[in-house]
Amino acid sequence: MRAHEAGALHGDLGYRGPAWLRTPEDVNALVPQLWPRTVSRTDAGSLQVGGVSVADLAAEHGTPAYLLDEADLRARCREFAAAFGDADVYYAGKSFLCKAVVRIIEEEGLFLDVCSGGELAVALKAGFPPEKIGFHGNNKSVSELSRALEAGVGRIIVDSFDEISRLSDLSEKLGKRAGVLLRVTVGVEAHTHEFIATAHEDQKFGFSLAGGAAFAAAVKILDEGILDLRGLHSHIGSQIFDTSGFEVAARRVLELQAQIRDARGVELEELDLGGGFGIAYTTQDDPSTAGDLAKRINKIVEGECELANLRKPRLSVEPGRAIVGPAVFTLYEVGTVKDVDGIRTYVSVDGGMSDNIRTALYDASYSATVAGRASTAEPMLARVVGKHCESGDIVVKDEFLPADVQPGDLLAVPGTGAYCRSMASNYNHVPRPPVVAVRDGASRVIVRRETEDDLLALDVG
Ligand SMILES: *Cc1c(COP(=O)(O)O)cnc(C)c1O
Repeated sequence: MRAHEAGALHGDLGYRGPAWLRTPEDVNALVPQLWPRTVSRTDAGSLQVGGVSVADLAAEHGTPAYLLDEADLRARCREFAAAFGDADVYYAGKSFLCKAVVRIIEEEGLFLDVCSGGELAVALKAGFPPEKIGFHGNNKSVSELSRALEAGVGRIIVDSFDEISRLSDLSEKLGKRAGVLLRVTVGVEAHTHEFIATAHEDQKFGFSLAGGAAFAAAVKILDEGILDLRGLHSHIGSQIFDTSGFEVAARRVLELQAQIRDARGVELEELDLGGGFGIAYTTQDDPSTAGDLAKRINKIVEGECELANLRKPRLSVEPGRAIVGPAVFTLYEVGTVKDVDGIRTYVSVDGGMSDNIRTALYDASYSATVAGRASTAEPMLARVVGKHCESGDIVVKDEFLPADVQPGDLLAVPGTGAYCRSMASNYNHVPRPPVVAVRDGASRVIVRRETEDDLLALDVG
């Protein structure tokens, strides 16, 4: 084991106190905002989702498994589409992408963002209309850009001068005029409840606004006339609860828009403010509804357009986490319960950092509950860990579980729809779990469980 390395990598993973935890009074209670909407406890005490008990799902599909509440996912898509009305809602495919989810978001009226050739391939394979796809990325290859142009992708979000040249050359060669947005780095960094507006913009994405690169890039594209510049784009961060970051971003981007109009007489027609809307992982998180977000963002854009004396551009947003995150929970089976005397109790499950890297990577907080039964035992503060060879292999840092939690119990961790399966690895050659969609009393595998044969198939030496 590599305790020293994990410590160095992940910093202090020590006890942080239960300040953000739900109250321990009822370890069986389900805090509604943490769970997909069809989840409840049956009279017998087991969790059910989409009308199917987790015991039945575990028996049929095994553990660990990502369980997707399809009705909840569809409802979230519809809520965003309805709330944003005239604005286009691009689902950020990097949060979780598979063909079934592509079809769901299409049926529910969303657009789609991809940021690699692989994500584009999944979208096209599922028959998603290419004109409703946006293509992101700070280092798109010639072959990725060619495929996007050949497929007729609706817009490409350009991120560097190299890319402008590369895409211009390809457009001329293939005889396809690419619709592009310019990714602007506005010097706003949003992170959960806070944002900081900085003068300099030390990150790999986008064209710097403060440094003048963004203006120069827009003018270059307009003057060359090869690419079709539709608008500006800004994405300020992830898991954001405070819309004031969007306000500063919108103001800065629209000031640039006015500057471009004044310099070249062109008023760009589109504005994309990115994604990053926060969801609840613990009871401390209080996310906004899609309706609230839409209202606030529209008001911000209208206000800033008035200030800059601009027509309101067609708006788009790019939520990933807020659409798929809360619609999924991971079902594990407990393997060991270890009381480290005087320190804490470790509950080990049959997955870990290979199916949820966010705790180790971002120090993210999660919640958990014993899912297969209710318990009348006293609450006990526990840490849920995985089966990997890292002491930083933590799934849930602190949670109250019933003191009688034991090997064989099913354990559910909510809020794992985004950036868990999509970031999953094969560390320790642990095959990745399946994604199972549950709806109206029936379940279907939409991404099957990886097998050892799958792992060995790549091992051709
Ligand atoms: C990651 C990303 C998103 C989605 O972020 P969420 O936090 O999942 O909403 C949207 N736009 C861009 C450009 C991104 O990089």
